[in-house]
Amino acid sequence: MPNMNPKKMDMPLQDPNVRNKNFDEVALGYTLEQAMEEADRCLQCKHKPCMNGCPVAVDIPGFIGKVKDGDMEAAYKIIKETSSLPAVCGRVCPQESQCEEKCVRGIKHESVGIGRLERFVADYHIANGSTDVVIPTSNGHKVAIVGAGPAGLTCAGDIANKGYDVTIFEALHKAGGVLVYGIPEFRLPKAIVQKEIDGLKAIGVKVETNMVIGKVLEIDELFEMGYESIFIGSGAGLPNFMNLEGENLKGVFSANEYLTRFNLMKAYETGVDTPIFKAKRAAIIGGGNVAMDAARCAKRVGCEEVYIVYRRGMDELPARREEVEHAEEEGIIFKTLTNPVRILGDENGNCIGMECVEMELGEADDSGRRRPVIKEGSNFVMDIDCMIMSIGTSPNPLILSTTDGLDANKWGCLIADEDGKTSREGVYAGGDAVTGAATVILAMGAGKDAAKAMDEYIQSK
Ligand code: FAD
Ligand code: SF4
Ligand code: SF4
Repeated sequence: MPNMNPKKMDMPLQDPNVRNKNFDEVALGYTLEQAMEEADRCLQCKHKPCMNGCPVAVDIPGFIGKVKDGDMEAAYKIIKETSSLPAVCGRVCPQESQCEEKCVRGIKHESVGIGRLERFVADYHIANGSTDVVIPTSNGHKVAIVGAGPAGLTCAGDIANKGYDVTIFEALHKAGGVLVYGIPEFRLPKAIVQKEIDGLKAIGVKVETNMVIGKVLEIDELFEMGYESIFIGSGAGLPNFMNLEGENLKGVFSANEYLTRFNLMKAYETGVDTPIFKAKRAAIIGGGNVAMDAARCAKRVGCEEVYIVYRRGMDELPARREEVEHAEEEGIIFKTLTNPVRILGDENGNCIGMECVEMELGEADDSGRRRPVIKEGSNFVMDIDCMIMSIGTSPNPLILSTTDGLDANKWGCLIADEDGKTSREGVYAGGDAVTGAATVILAMGAGKDAAKAMDEYIQSK
């Protein structure tokens, strides 16, 4: 008889008033006993509806069944058949709108904690599992991967396992993409991502950092160097701005820049003297995961009042519900149905405030969400010394502008079919570079599909 507890096993967390002053991971993970008890809530449904919600179709009842039996290594092997980065996805996947949304236990009560169990299995493997490395036999073919984010890393791992000689070219000095430069340590410890990169290096994948493709080398030069196929997983790292008066004032940042200072320049580590803007009152504009991350970082370095300023309501916030709850617990103040119209500065060019308008929700727009409209005459000023723009990102146009024959849409996203094939022969693409800012699991899935298609392309030449 399964465990019919209507609620999923709580995730142990750091106390909000302690964690909002440190960068250690917020969620502490299940113990073995907690994981087995939660696994026992799974009904092992014959039609596996939860799998339909997972973009890479992890065999969810299969792996949870093994957790129930206490065979964590078998559970890990099942997840790894379809997911390359389980320790990452178990932490950051929007499970509530994917696998867990389709779980039958969620119809009347709380769904099974699929993400929490996936994280447990992956962490258990890191701590106790086999470290044996099977080096694939070389097939004599060379491929190049541009970008070391989840799309590029997954593509590299899958195609290297087929015997290819793989080199990843990464623009930054560290591999990992948004997993290391965007998502903060308190949500995704860097050591977890580094383990995955070390695993790739162990099977022979080469990682060349500080290699901006389109500047240091162009796509055509990579072909001339003997790479037979190229995967572009360069993400969507170019921040959008609102083009407001005052955006050049001191104290106004993009969330990307702000988070990169914390992550890649190590402002999260005690004893590291990274220049980071010490704000007293900060407003983060936007309501997605990126905005929550920036707000929670600002709080952790002592900002007294941190606001999330969002033009729709609480119900429309695009961030994961769990991240919103964690942010609220940590003291982040939500100012919804509010939009900035002008940033105010002093005579020295410092940000000293922000003129805003109140909004109300009108008719639904093309996305199905109710469109925010300005309440006439509602202008007011918020007294802030820091403003962080987190209203989305676009792909950087560098590769597109230096490569002939690559098609893109009006937002600058590369056009690729479902296998990642672009308009240029031998060039494949996937992840945020194709979809625009999306999720880790979708980028990973795209990298997997492209690895398969690149193999078929090279073998059919
Ligand atoms: P990226 O991760 O952006 O990696 C692209 C890589 O390519 C980067 O390392 C970049 O430096 C490199 N590159 C770019 N141009 C070049 C070039 N010319 N030459 C060489 N290298 C280049 N998703 C979730 O699922 N859950 C979350 O909780 C979540 N939180 C997020 C929080 C933040 C702060 C951000 C920014 C994003 C978040 N996302 C989240 C989105 C998710 O991280 C991305 O969708 C995912 O990382 C996209 O993967 P990618 O491999 O396509 O691109
Ligand atoms: Fe759920 Fe993500 Fe795991 Fe798929 S990869 S089962 S969506 S947590
Ligand atoms: Fe288990 Fe829920 Fe999937 Fe059913 S839908 S197999 S209960 S995780």
